[in-house]
This record gives sequence, structure tokens and C-alpha cells, in this order.
Amino acid sequence: MLVDTFGRVASDLRISLTDKCSLRCTYCMPAEGLPWLRKAELLTDDEIVRLAAVFVALGVTTIRLTGGEPLLHPTVPLVVGRLASLVPRPELSLTTNGIGLVGLAPELVAAGLDRVNVSVDTLDRERFRELTRRDRLPDVLAGVAAAAAAGLHPVKVNAVLMRGSNLSEAPALLGWALRAGYRMRFIEHMPLDAQHAWTRDAMVTAEEMLDVLSEHYTLRPVGRGAHESAPAEEFDVLDGPGSDEWTARPGSLGVIASVTRPFCRECDRLRLTADGQLRTCLFARTETDLRAALRGDATDEQIAELIRAAVAGKQAGHGIGAADFVQPARPMSAIGG
Ligand code: SAM
Ligand code: SF4
Repeated sequence: MLVDTFGRVASDLRISLTDKCSLRCTYCMPAEGLPWLRKAELLTDDEIVRLAAVFVALGVTTIRLTGGEPLLHPTVPLVVGRLASLVPRPELSLTTNGIGLVGLAPELVAAGLDRVNVSVDTLDRERFRELTRRDRLPDVLAGVAAAAAAGLHPVKVNAVLMRGSNLSEAPALLGWALRAGYRMRFIEHMPLDAQHAWTRDAMVTAEEMLDVLSEHYTLRPVGRGAHESAPAEEFDVLDGPGSDEWTARPGSLGVIASVTRPFCRECDRLRLTADGQLRTCLFARTETDLRAALRGDATDEQIAELIRAAVAGKQAGHGIGAADFVQPARPMSAIGG
């Protein structure tokens, strides 16, 4: 098992398949994109699978593929299939902006994908175009529907709420998700944007999100998600506005308050960047170069030792709000969100 000095057991690995993206969400990256990693810097599929096998042998039980936009990785179904044949088989999930899911969802499910999270920040086409700088809302919504039709239940839908943008749409987003049977999760904006424009004052807090939602819905807190380390605080939706627009169905929602109600004490996550760097925290200031070890002919045991040492050095918490907090050099899209 991978245990850190605070007694936390790392069992969840997020693998970024690429730092590139088909959207340019304003809260994530600038309009012109970022200096992307070069092909030679990226892990190959063989390298990804070999590292994943070492992590699984060390006790990792869930693997999430992310990015950037993971569906831009040309062989993502093959990667899923190879990860699904690891022993013991990890649970496999994917976080995506949904573009490309229409074509890929059945193939991903056949390859062994168990769950999917799709980011949908707005249902308004013009706002989507402003927020993501691309006119792709129809593709995203078709992708969500395709994921559900392919059997990836329950589809989780992520929205980062931003004041002056989509905050006022939170009740409508929840209504849409409840009607369709998706699990809506609202996320606090974190200081991981490439532009370093995040400020605590501008960030919409979980409290503010719940205030906006509570004007239309009766919410009952039910604690953290399925397992203790799940970041979302779950709420049952007991009652809704009942209008045609927001007809409520019994359901639930999650709020991920990484900044104001951090879950660092229960964190079970590790992150592998697309260029093979192990990060034990989104906000880590250091990385462990597993790609260099792989390409330097390290044995699996030597790689396992590097991973154990990195986990042993995992920091207590993200420290946002502390006087000495410094935003990490890599943005969210290059770490793997
Ligand atoms: N491109 C995929 C997507 O958008 O789902 C996967 C990568 S994206 C970095 C993963 C999640 O992180 C998305 O739900 C996105 O909204 C969220 N995200 C991006 N930047 C963020 C930030 N600065 N703070 C909080 N969440 C962020
Ligand atoms: Fe791309 Fe996801 Fe970042 Fe949006 S949040 S720009 S979809 S990586």
C-alpha cells in the first residue's frame, strides 16, 4: 500500500493523456492556448500501461483518464482496454469536455470504461461560446447523451461556477441534470488557471452556490460521497420549482469545495502528467520524474521505490489562503484535472 506520513492511503491515480484541448475555457487557459508538450516528451501507450501496472501492484484501485482533453489522444480506447486487463482490474473512469464522445462512447464502454464525468458549464449556446471560446455546445450535449445511452450510468456532469457568467444558471443546470438522470456537481474555481487570474474574492464559494440553488430547491446534506475520500459533498434534492423548465425529480447533487472546505485530510489521489511526472497534489511544487526512470531502464521495483518515496513526501494540504501559498507552475490542463 502507498501510505503517506499522515496515514493517508493513495489508491486513486489520475493519468493525463495530453495537455492539449479542443476548448479554451476562460477559467482554465488563454485564448491562444499554451506551449504544448512535444510528442517526444509524452509518454507512449506502452509507458502509460507499464507505469499503471506498477501503481496497481502498489494498491491503486481506481484510474481516471484526463487532460487537457483525453479524447484527443488518438488511441484512447486501446489505452482503456489495456488498463482494463491489469490485475487486479482497476475501476476506470474518464473526465472529458464531451467533444468526441458521440463516436467514442460505445467503443470506450466495450474496452472497459466504467464511468464518465463530462464538463458542461452552461446550456446556453452563446454563453458556452463565450466561456469556452468555441461554438461546440451541441457536440457536448450530444456527447453527454451518448455516454448515458452507452450505459455509463450515472453520468456525472461538472460545472465550474463563475460570478457574472454561469452562476445564475446553476438552478437550470441542476434541473436539466435531474430530468435527464445525470449527477450534477458544482465546483469551486481553483488557483490553477494558466493566466493566474484567480482571486479569492472573485471565486464563487460553495456557500454562495448553495444559496443560489436553495432559492429554487430544497436540499438536504448527506455528507461526503460514496467513499470518505470523495471530494463532493452530496445533497439530496427533495423539492424543486416544479415548473416545466425546472421540473424536479428526486435526485442528488454534489458540491466540490476544494478551496473553502478542502478534503486534503482524506485525499487518496496521485497524478501522472502526460510527460510522465508524478504529482502527489494538484498544488505540489515538486514532481517525480517517472519518465526518466522508464527511459533510463529502471526496473519495476526501482520505479515502485520512486513512487513510494514521492507518496511519503506528500504535503499535508494545498495551503491556499496561507501567506506563503504559491500557485504551481503547471496549470490544471497540464497537470490533469
Ligand atoms: N478537458 C476535460 C474537461 O474539461 O472535463 C478534462 C480536463 S479539465 C482540466 C477537468 C476539470 O477541471 C473540468 O471539470 C474543468 O471544468 C475543471 N477545471 C479546469 N480548470 C479549473 C480550475 N482552475 N479550477 C477548478 N476546476 C477547473
Ligand atoms: Fe479544456 Fe477542460 Fe481546460 Fe476546458 S477545462 S480548456 S475543456 S482542459
